[in-house]
Amino acid sequence: MVYKYYCVDCGNEIPGEEINFDLADLLGIRIGNDNASAQKGLERDEKGNFKNFVKRKTTQISARKLLELAEKHNVPLKHGVRSFFKITLKEFLTVMGENEGGEVIAQEMRRKKYSELRDALELVFQTSENRIVEEKLLNDWLKILAERFHFNDEANATIVQQKEEGKDVDPEIRKMHTLMMENTTNYEAGFWIEPEYFRSSSDQDIYTVRYSLHNQSAFMEDIHEPMSIRGFCPICGQPVIEGAGKYPHELVGLLGVQSSGKTSMIMAIIKELQDNFGYLGISYPGAPLCDSRYHIMMLNKELYDNGWAVEKTNASSNEGSFNISIKISDKNKRVTKLVTFVDIAGEQCYDIRNHQVNQEALQKYPVIGQCKLYILCSCIDKTGYGNADGENAIIPENALIQIATTIYERLLGMNRTTKIPPLCILMTKADMSPEPVDRPSAMNPFRNIKAHEKYLYKNQLDNLLRAYDMTDERNIRDPLDWCGRTYGEISRRTYVSMMSCSALGRSGVRYEGDLQNIVPYTDKGVLIGFRRVRIDILCKWIMEVLGLKTIDEMQYLLPHIPSYREYYTLGNNAGKDDYFSATEEDMKLRIIAIMKLFINHAPLDQAIINEFNKENGRWPGSTLSKRLKKVVETSGFVYRR
Ligand SMILES: [Zn+2]
Repeated sequence: MVYKYYCVDCGNEIPGEEINFDLADLLGIRIGNDNASAQKGLERDEKGNFKNFVKRKTTQISARKLLELAEKHNVPLKHGVRSFFKITLKEFLTVMGENEGGEVIAQEMRRKKYSELRDALELVFQTSENRIVEEKLLNDWLKILAERFHFNDEANATIVQQKEEGKDVDPEIRKMHTLMMENTTNYEAGFWIEPEYFRSSSDQDIYTVRYSLHNQSAFMEDIHEPMSIRGFCPICGQPVIEGAGKYPHELVGLLGVQSSGKTSMIMAIIKELQDNFGYLGISYPGAPLCDSRYHIMMLNKELYDNGWAVEKTNASSNEGSFNISIKISDKNKRVTKLVTFVDIAGEQCYDIRNHQVNQEALQKYPVIGQCKLYILCSCIDKTGYGNADGENAIIPENALIQIATTIYERLLGMNRTTKIPPLCILMTKADMSPEPVDRPSAMNPFRNIKAHEKYLYKNQLDNLLRAYDMTDERNIRDPLDWCGRTYGEISRRTYVSMMSCSALGRSGVRYEGDLQNIVPYTDKGVLIGFRRVRIDILCKWIMEVLGLKTIDEMQYLLPHIPSYREYYTLGNNAGKDDYFSATEEDMKLRIIAIMKLFINHAPLDQAIINEFNKENGRWPGSTLSKRLKKVVETSGFVYRR
């Protein structure tokens, strides 16, 4: 099976078969990034933001085109077999032209003579930067193309022979030689290539390639920058995480205002998954997967692991959102998924001037609206950690409810009624406990939220209830009221859970030292790491909902992420795309899982649960199952997935 994947850069959903490879990589052409600090991605612009990576789509080729080229040159590309691949300069220039200006530029590139190589390159490297940079770029390219592409042996042999025979005194022959020397088809470069197909038995869809520039093919290299990736996004040209297309890819969106601590939360989740994988019922997940923001991601991870505040995500930047991907399997390795945690800055999707959700942003960054699970983050104390926290939120907390409901409405509007992502309302920085006073409040929003007794996260709800009663500070009651309001609003749209935790356990201090050599945070000479509070509980819930951890004692992995609009039928609607008839056992397991993981239930779930309750919590026996059948059938819904 080949799965769809998401580009973590442009956020687009892409069929697994579609992937690009960079001919420059395969040919060992590295230009522009010769500066060590740029290579490490640590170069910053005048505002202190990390500089973008050099645009690299110019020399990329799709897997399909690569196969076509191979066929043209009579080089069979077989699964796991190394072949020597040749490409002519004309073909290479055509690829560059197509990528930079479509067919028109590609044609012009094809027409250029070898002596006009500079003009050809100018067509694709017209940079907005200054002339000096452009000159250097052009010179570097000319040099490396001359180095890599050699006048081909056959043409060379003809010329040499005719020269030896003295035929080159003939002006016609001379003219012919010049034409040959000027024809970019007569220059070629080669490399070893070893494709990996999705199915080893079928040479149809390339998963990835390995390559080598050595004369002998003994050393094959993965595509890396600096760690192995699968290839490049066919839309934006940025690196695609390893495993994309091979495993289901789930996006977990953390939505919150800038100061709600989302980036720290993501780092804490990654650390928790790595440290406590056994407790979480998953296999060791390994390191985060490489993507275009690998260096920034790893820098933040190193800062977090050493007890320093993470770099602020720039909400106004046009670079989409910060995110981090990791490959996770359940403990028995029955299921493996790619999970990307996406940092969605509320400021990015909200127009503060007219107090409206910025629809454009949702379109521009499809990743925001494509998540399979949302975590709505808000700081439990309006004042945050004080000044150490940086800027305050510039959009009102209510904006988050608006953004979330807009995302859900869009999903419904897109006729994807069967895939409504569950949501967790998360109060962050939960370690900030105020001076306890016991003032039970009748207004406590959590008093009216009743979860089923099977709900596994009831303690979390109680924590919030207590936090409200234990204080009368508006700083804390306001965010908690918000939490209650959000629940009221969103629980009619999707499955909801609610918890509070802390990624840091104290305020984070900004690191001012050498980024290349980060030292652990100390206070008066004492090493003080971060203290994660209840992050394990959050991770457990996420893993259960994603079907990567068995739920409780059930030994049951959710086969897919539960959707609020998903219903069962015992009928025979199977066969059609979306429809699938469930066995009674499926129904039973699913509904128990829903009760254990979410506070609220969909109307049909509720009907089934009522039947369930009539039997004092026992699953209805065979006589009752007839009644249950009726409940399901008269509901008029079918189970879709
Ligand atoms: Zn992309």
